[in-house]
Amino acid sequence: MSTAEPKVEKILEVKQVKKHFNMGRNQVVRAVDNVTFDVYKGETLGLVGESGCGKSTIGRTIIRLYEATEGEIRFKGETTKDLKGKSLKKFNREMQMIFQDPYASLNPRMTVSDIIAEGLDIHGLAQGEERRQKVVELLKTVGLNEEHADRFPHEFSGGQRQRIGIARALAVDPDFIIADEPISALDVSIQAQVVNLMKRLQREKGLTYLFIAHDLSMVKYISDRVGVMYLGNLVELADSQELYDTPLHPYTEALLSAVPIADPDVGKQRERIILKGDVPSPIDPPSGCRFRTRCPKAMDICAQVVPKWQEVRPMHWVACHLYEEESLKKEQAKKED
Ligand code: SF4
Repeated sequence: MSTAEPKVEKILEVKQVKKHFNMGRNQVVRAVDNVTFDVYKGETLGLVGESGCGKSTIGRTIIRLYEATEGEIRFKGETTKDLKGKSLKKFNREMQMIFQDPYASLNPRMTVSDIIAEGLDIHGLAQGEERRQKVVELLKTVGLNEEHADRFPHEFSGGQRQRIGIARALAVDPDFIIADEPISALDVSIQAQVVNLMKRLQREKGLTYLFIAHDLSMVKYISDRVGVMYLGNLVELADSQELYDTPLHPYTEALLSAVPIADPDVGKQRERIILKGDVPSPIDPPSGCRFRTRCPKAMDICAQVVPKWQEVRPMHWVACHLYEEESLKKEQAKKED
């Protein structure tokens, strides 16, 4: 998918969402602060950032494993916070999650068949022979077979367990899947297989993905658009090719400078940016722009004013004072014309 294609139907809207955790003794972890983005039907939106940047927390807040502290999340136009009864059950079926650790996320005492059919049982979607057939069909869909149905998770490799996790998510016929670092625990050789499986399923079933990861190269491969998070904030969001070719935020530039490039000529031109210092604590984040303590381009204003989240080019969003000045100048020039 390219920037030229119109992205029409919003399936998910995340509006100024905050998720804070109260740790007692007046300490609050601001894991997610004022995050705003939309996800369009049928696309893959990748979310990247270092560990602790809030990307998993936002995923868990979207699927209601956590309650948002502030802000609004709308799925198919409905505010998810207010869902109850039948509409909540429907939401729980339509939105599924694939977890990072296929070892920890499968109950070791359940057979693969019962793990995959759990959603079918909860939602009363199939019983008896129909249930068995559905499990077999799902196993085949993810590249496993019928004889795997009666085995236990410990009998499988990491890649196979992640396939079981995917089959479990697919069992209830969802529209939207949050994949939280689904390949991080897998061997490199297996990662591409799982990503290719996810891409194929997306094409066949019209799925929408929120793909959370820290590996930028894999995110580019699977995502139509990519969002970059830093210390609880979304700092940049754009079409994936545009983000990789012309990153605007200094943090995105630094992250991309560390990604190996296959073409040696392009690789030589890209200078590696080493960020100074560590990521500050989300309990006491820096004033103004949270990235300012590590930003090679920081200015005085960066310590005083939180940069605005703004669309500086069509479908290219960034939160950085460098571009606020640019857009102010543009507005000024327009007025003077
Ligand atoms: Fe750097 Fe300032 Fe932009 Fe933050 S707002 S990324 S500190 S230039």
